[in-house]
Amino acid sequence: MAQVEASRLVAMPGATVTMRESELMVGGGDRMIDLPVPTFVIEHPKGLVLFDTGCNPAVAVDAKGYWGGIADYLQVKFAPELVVDAQLKAHGYRPEDIRYVVVSHLHLDHAGGLALFPKARFFIMKGELNYAYWPEKRHRSAFKINDLLPTRRFDWVELPGDTDLLEDGSLIMMRTPGHTPGESSLMVRIRGHQPLVLTGDTLHIRPQFNTLQPSEMDYDRAEASESIARLKRIRDLSEARIWVMHDAEDWATYPHLIE
Ligand SMILES: [Zn+2]
Repeated sequence: MAQVEASRLVAMPGATVTMRESELMVGGGDRMIDLPVPTFVIEHPKGLVLFDTGCNPAVAVDAKGYWGGIADYLQVKFAPELVVDAQLKAHGYRPEDIRYVVVSHLHLDHAGGLALFPKARFFIMKGELNYAYWPEKRHRSAFKINDLLPTRRFDWVELPGDTDLLEDGSLIMMRTPGHTPGESSLMVRIRGHQPLVLTGDTLHIRPQFNTLQPSEMDYDRAEASESIARLKRIRDLSEARIWVMHDAEDWATYPHLIE
């Protein structure tokens, strides 16, 4: 493997949503949990890489108007300065310089900003696009067709499984399905640092590592449990650290700048 070339990772804040623990983890309790919705930008000589795109800019203006009833259900809090392009600018990047977008999955809190990057190449696991355009009724509210329609002519690359995206070990996109058919995680190696796995929504809260329980909303719960177990094995058997993206404690604990 060639030498790792990624040199910097920045974690950017986004919306906050609120859900009951029992919805996030089978067997969970009644307490309500605030979930951060971050995005990440990675500097690489081959171009700037963005992991996930957060909520649609329209959600910052009129959440119920754009999302419908699920906006109240999730108690979403989102301000215009937290939209992913505004965050990129606030961190010194030009949104038009994003060359690659890695998409964990296409739920509304991850795919809302896709259309902001018309010149980028989008990496996604096979099965996700098809499902997002035509989900089963039980999952329909989690996908917003208007997040996707403007991107139909974009440069989408569907991957069949784990892939070394830039061919130097900096970014390994991992197939961790279950939450959705094409859910994925991203292992990031920044030169001189331990690998870090960004989980997407493979799991939502850290206690799932102990219980291996999936969430109520997962597409395939057995598959979701296997994917959580896979990340747990990586955590326990390798030097990698795991950042559970929606976990508030992880957001508070992990450095938001690695370089
Ligand atoms: Zn999510």
